[in-house]
Amino acid sequence: MNTTEKKTIGKMIHLYCNAKHGTSHALCTSCAELNKYAQKRLSKCIYGEDKPTCEKCPIHCYSSDMREKIKDVMRYSGPRMLFHSPRMAITHLIKGMKTPKRIS
Ligand SMILES: [Zn+2]
Repeated sequence: MNTTEKKTIGKMIHLYCNAKHGTSHALCTSCAELNKYAQKRLSKCIYGEDKPTCEKCPIHCYSSDMREKIKDVMRYSGPRMLFHSPRMAITHLIKGMKTPKRIS
């Protein structure tokens, strides 16, 4: 479940870490931790495959410090994803346009 989102977020964290922290293949400790955290949150996301992108999600499941970190990653890697993985980025954009269903 959520495989596309998981790949997208992993790729975004890689791009960010490579550029900002000078890593090549492996992630630095703090980005690895962020990645693990993000993957775990995605696995637990109640929206499953139907989920909106996290920034539009009405349920803020990230803790505030992790949220700050992931926002930085998104800000940096979001636009760059268009060059590296256009198909992933476009899927992400389309998902971002969907309005999440309210879960009562
Ligand atoms: Zn890093």
